[in-house]
Amino acid sequence: MKRIAVLGSTGSIGRNTLNIIRAFPDKFSACALSVNDNTAELIHQIKEFLPAQVCVNDPAKAAELQRTVAPGVKVLCGPQGLEHICKSKDVDMAVLAISGSAALGPLLAAIDNKKQIATANKEALVMAGEIIRKRAAKSGARILPIDSEQSAIWQCLEGQEISKLRRIYLTASGGPFLGFTPGRMKKITLKQALSHPRWKMGRKITVDSATLMNKGLEVLEAMALFGVGADKIKVVIHPESIIHSMVEFVDGVVMAQLSITDMRIPIQYALSYPRRLASDLPGLDLIKLGSLNFSEPDTRGFPCLKLALQAARKSGTYPCVLNAANEVAVEEFLKERIDFISIPKVVERVLTRHKGISDPGIEDILASADWARRISLEIAGKLRKAD
Ligand code: MG
Repeated sequence: MKRIAVLGSTGSIGRNTLNIIRAFPDKFSACALSVNDNTAELIHQIKEFLPAQVCVNDPAKAAELQRTVAPGVKVLCGPQGLEHICKSKDVDMAVLAISGSAALGPLLAAIDNKKQIATANKEALVMAGEIIRKRAAKSGARILPIDSEQSAIWQCLEGQEISKLRRIYLTASGGPFLGFTPGRMKKITLKQALSHPRWKMGRKITVDSATLMNKGLEVLEAMALFGVGADKIKVVIHPESIIHSMVEFVDGVVMAQLSITDMRIPIQYALSYPRRLASDLPGLDLIKLGSLNFSEPDTRGFPCLKLALQAARKSGTYPCVLNAANEVAVEEFLKERIDFISIPKVVERVLTRHKGISDPGIEDILASADWARRISLEIAGKLRKAD
């Protein structure tokens, strides 16, 4: 029985993780759950999964839950609560299904306590990839990706020598605005940006997919997970999202992982690894699909991808600053304060002003993120839409 802590249990990845746990009650249990402020849904999850501890980010909601919940359930609060869960002796695996840089603290706590970590969060890996790699190597903690592209790369590389890797082909659906002219880009609304053609996901990642920043973050995520340089990763537009990524070896052989677009597939693999469990999801019907298409990404129309690739090459604190600036810009766009096309403008201006630190420690990372958030808010303020 694998005892799993699901951080972000009411989000899209969190709910799907609980679907897998529910489907295999003899193999997995949900020993801890966490939410931002959705305690109404958490109460239902507590009744069904009987976790020993839960964490609520919102202090008022946590206190309210404390008064109503059964005495056997420990109620924790805030970032310290998440770290406490990741250190707990009775947790075998931590599933990081929270979005944004808030995952960094819990991820490091899980690494230092040698937990198995299944992560859907890419921001923490983008911020502190090198530090995370070193600390995981030291403690022996294993980081297993849930992100569909990283899961594909991981499965293709399994049993292979990393030194024989020539290139990674990271596939991208292209998002809802593939082929848009600059004129159409200017008029993109929040509602349009929140409707992705292939995947149903949380708001932050859906906007990132629309700007292609998500793909840029995935390049940085792959660098952190597999220890490869930016020069070995090639982004390819593949609108059908059937090939989740490919790897090419030095002998010219390309291996790809294909499946339907359903996050339960990579989540289940991360949970059950190194074994495969039967799934009752429909298989892939290639005949019905007929053809798969590929093209070069448009980095002029989607400057976020270009900015992420530049930050990847510059390394040091640049990826962390890129991520923090993007988080702020996306929050401002979600609040309808700035336009869709202002997101890359914020990121670019913050990166231009940043004086990078090479080989940063964790304090440098956190200070750079704070600096970038402050400057991003300032810049976003200047780009505000007229009401
Ligand atoms: Mg992905």
